[in-house]
Amino acid sequence: MTLPIYIPAPKTVQEALQQACVNERAAVLFTAGGYSWERMTGCQAGPWYLVTGPDGQTYNVDPLLGYKCSCPFWQGHEFCKHGIAVAALDADMQAERQAEEEADGRLLAAETVAERAIINAGFRP
Ligand SMILES: [Zn+2]
Repeated sequence: MTLPIYIPAPKTVQEALQQACVNERAAVLFTAGGYSWERMTGCQAGPWYLVTGPDGQTYNVDPLLGYKCSCPFWQGHEFCKHGIAVAALDADMQAERQAEEEADGRLLAAETVAERAIINAGFRP
C-alpha cells in the first residue's frame, strides 16, 4: 500500500505507529470525534476547509497544499487528523461528482440515441 501524498513516509516504527493512531482518529473525526467541517469558497486560491473541533477550536485545511492544516501538530509532523479527514471527504465528493458526470454522460448518450431513432423514424425533432 502506498501512502497518500499528504502523509509523509514514516522514518521509524514509532512514526508509523503514530501515523496509524492519527489515521484512526481521522476516520471518526466528523462522527464520534465531534468535529464539523465547512467548505469555504470565494477565495482566489481555491476552496479550503474550515474544521471546527468539539471545543470550538477551528483549523484551516488547504487541499491545494497537500491538506496542510493550521494546527500545531501539522507544523511538527506535516500531517494531522484534520488533514487526513478532509482528504477523505474530498475524495468522497470527487467520487460523487464523477458519478454525477458519468450519469449525465449516459443521459446525454441516451438522449442522442432517442433523437436519432426519432429522426430515423421519419420525424423531425
Ligand atoms: Zn490539523
